[in-house]
Order: sequence, then structure tokens, then C-alpha cells
Amino acid sequence: MVLEHGCYRYHALFEYWLPQQVIIKPRIRGYICTTSHPVGCEQNVCEQIHYVDDKGRINGTKNALIIGCSGGYGLASRVVAGFACRANTIGVSLEKEPEENRVGSSGFYVNHAFDKLAQAQGLVSESMHGDAFSHEMKQAVIEQIKDRFGEIDLLVYSLAAPLRVRPDSGESFRSVIKPIGEVFRAKNLVLNVLKGTAELTDVALEPATEQEIASTVAVMGGEDWQMWVEQLRDAGVLASNFNTVAYTYLGNELTQPIYRGGTLGKAKEHLDLVCGVLNDQYSDSGLKAYVAVLKAVVTQASTAIPVVPLYFSILFQVMKEAGTHENCIAHIYRLFEEQLYTSGEQRIDEEGRLRMDNLELADEIQNEVRRRWHAIDDSNLGELADVSGFSSDFLRIFGFGHDNVDYSEDVEHYEGYTR
Ligand code: NAD
Repeated sequence: MVLEHGCYRYHALFEYWLPQQVIIKPRIRGYICTTSHPVGCEQNVCEQIHYVDDKGRINGTKNALIIGCSGGYGLASRVVAGFACRANTIGVSLEKEPEENRVGSSGFYVNHAFDKLAQAQGLVSESMHGDAFSHEMKQAVIEQIKDRFGEIDLLVYSLAAPLRVRPDSGESFRSVIKPIGEVFRAKNLVLNVLKGTAELTDVALEPATEQEIASTVAVMGGEDWQMWVEQLRDAGVLASNFNTVAYTYLGNELTQPIYRGGTLGKAKEHLDLVCGVLNDQYSDSGLKAYVAVLKAVVTQASTAIPVVPLYFSILFQVMKEAGTHENCIAHIYRLFEEQLYTSGEQRIDEEGRLRMDNLELADEIQNEVRRRWHAIDDSNLGELADVSGFSSDFLRIFGFGHDNVDYSEDVEHYEGYTR
């Protein structure tokens, strides 16, 4: 152990056992990173704000609530609401606060940065940490809205959760990502992000039981979205032009067994069902509910889905070559501008969903993805798939891999971040 810059460093364990100022490195196991870099996380938010600043203002929401605001599509939605629409925002997420000898989760630093940057521009911005599925969180949010916002005109439901406790009964459910009916055998991408290596393996995924399917629907289906809308409505905090949108993914036949046709797909079918119920029951009060089908992007939730990283890596390469690739912020900006707050025609499918996956599912893109999927092996992986882009997107979720952040410097992770 050495004393440097007034603090102890214990190099072998990096972030553990360290008082506040530390050098933080990524610690990765499979598709999980257990550390995060506060400066890099702020950089993620700044880059998204710069993107929307360049694109211009959208005449949209004025007061928005984002459930699942701390990363991926939820964060992008909050940035577009806040910085393109100039809306006051409340965000809800479940993140780990830092402790003296342990860094917080990336979403914690992201929320901190968002609040700071939004408030600096005169916007009301409140990030609430806790379980969005609980009655307590819903009640706390309603009180915040009454005190500081009056009412909200947009609820974005962008939750991706591994488990849920149903608030009235106390039953707990764990979501699983499995095929339904039969074993799914496919190629899988095994990445070592830090070493920069990648290889293909074969996986065989066992089908879910009925109980697992039901649990996944309880966690990732629409029940909690409906509870949010109804409790907010009962509390009288919904504006007369209130919109709500929840996000879904469909994908193609390559990911069909593990996504659309699997346990997650069943949960997303339930989301569609709830969307219909909300529109049927509450349209007289001006409420409009949407499910938006979004494109594939690298997030904490999506990298946890087996087989998907290989499909994503091939897709990104093909879309980048075609000039149609979008990251989270570009995609959500387009959702708000061209679908949610448009005076033009919305791209709505026969199920009533807003379709944002039009570029991903374009025939020329999918034909090429299919060709590469069947041709790919360890010898041509780097050529046919954007493995390095995937790895760099993954690292950035946790605040690593920015050129303008000096990762060799000590960084504050605790003081100034606690509430
Ligand atoms: P993500 O992992 O980046 O974000 C998930 C968010 O949910 C985080 O803010 C996290 O803190 C929050 N969360 C999890 N459990 C919570 C709890 N109990 N209480 C409060 N907050 C909680 O995920 P993402 O990929 O951006 O996914 C968001 C939505 O977008 C999901 O519905 C997903 O299915 C959908 N979607 C994702 C993709 C994709 O490729 N990533 C594509 C289409 C649709």
C-alpha cells in the first residue's frame, strides 16, 4: 500500500479499500462491469447534450417523468426531453450510491451529472433512486410532481429489470431470458473487452418453464407501467395532453427464438396489451399511450441477452457501412422529432406500435446481416462484425474509453456525490 496525493492506494484491488481519490479501472466479467468512472459518466451525458444541441429544439414535453432514466434509452429520453424540449424532468432509477471505499454504479454518476447540467440551465431536474415497482416510489414521485412540477405531460417507461416485488402481495419475480418450447442452439460472441479479443462459441439455451415465462411477464410486462399511469392519474397530476411511451424490441428471425419468441417477447406482448387497455380506458381524458419499437443498441440490459451481441455487432457494421447506424441519443431524438411530437403522419403498425426499427429492418440491411451471420467464423469475425465498436460502446456505458478523460488520474468518487 502506498500513500499518494494524500490517499492510500492498494493497486492489486483498485477500487476496493480505497479512500475517495482513486484511479478507477474497468473490472469486467463477461458482459458485466463492476466499476464505473464518474468523469467518464459525466462525459457520456455531455456528449448526448451536445448531440441534441446541434440537432436543435423540439416543441414537445414541458414536464416529463422518465422511469429507468440512468442509462440506455431512458437516459437518452431524458436528455432529449430536457435539452431538446427544454422540459423539467424527474428520473427514477435503481442505482448503487458510492461508499467511501467503493465506487457507485455508472447510472448513479450519470444521474448526478444530468441534474447538475440541467439545473445549470435553469431546468428543474430531480433524480430519484429506488425501486420503481414499489408503491413508496410512486407516492414519492407524485409528491415531487405536486410540489415542483404541478403536472406532467410525458411518462417514458424505459425499465429493464431483473426482478420485481409485486407491491400489494409481496410476491417476488425474477425475469429470465430463455427461448420457449425448445432448445435454441446458436453462435455466441465471447468478448474480452479489456484484452481486445473475441471468439465465437456455440451455445444451447434450454427453454423456459411456464413459471419462468409468467415471472418474466410479471417483471418486464406492462403491469407496472399501468400502475404508474393509474396512480398518477388518480393523484390528478396528468396534463390534459398527457402522452406515455414504453419501449420494446422485435428484431428479426435470427434473434427470434431468444427475443420475440422467447420469454422477453411474451413480456413485451403484455406491454402491447396494456397499451391498448390504457388507450381504451383513458382516451376520454386526452391520454395517449404508445409502445415504440426501437432499434438494437448496446446497453447494460441488451448485452445480458445471449446471442444478441453477435447479431448487434454484425448489424452495427452493416448499418455503419450503409450510413444508417444510430446510437441511443440519435435514435431517441428521431423518435421525439419524427414520431412523438410530429404534426406529420406517425409510422404505426397494425398492432398500433410506433415503428422506429425501420432502418434496422430495411431489406438491404437484413439481407446483408443474414449473409454475414451464416458466413461468420473466428477467421473473419473482425471483418464481418463491428466487434471493436461494440466493445467501445460497452465500455462507455461505464464511463470508460473516452479520449478526453485521463484515466491515469486520481478521481473523486464519493465526496460531493453523497446525498
Ligand atoms: P438499461 O439497462 O440501459 O436501463 C435500464 C434502466 O432501468 C436503468 O435506469 C436502471 O436503473 C433501471 N431499473 C432497473 N430496475 C429498476 C427498478 N427496480 N427500479 C427503478 N429503476 C430500475 O436498459 P435499456 O436497454 O435502455 O432498456 C430500456 C427499455 O428499452 C427496455 O424496455 C428495453 O426492452 C427497451 N429496448 C432496448 C433495446 C436495446 O437494444 N437496448 C432495444 C429496444 C427496446
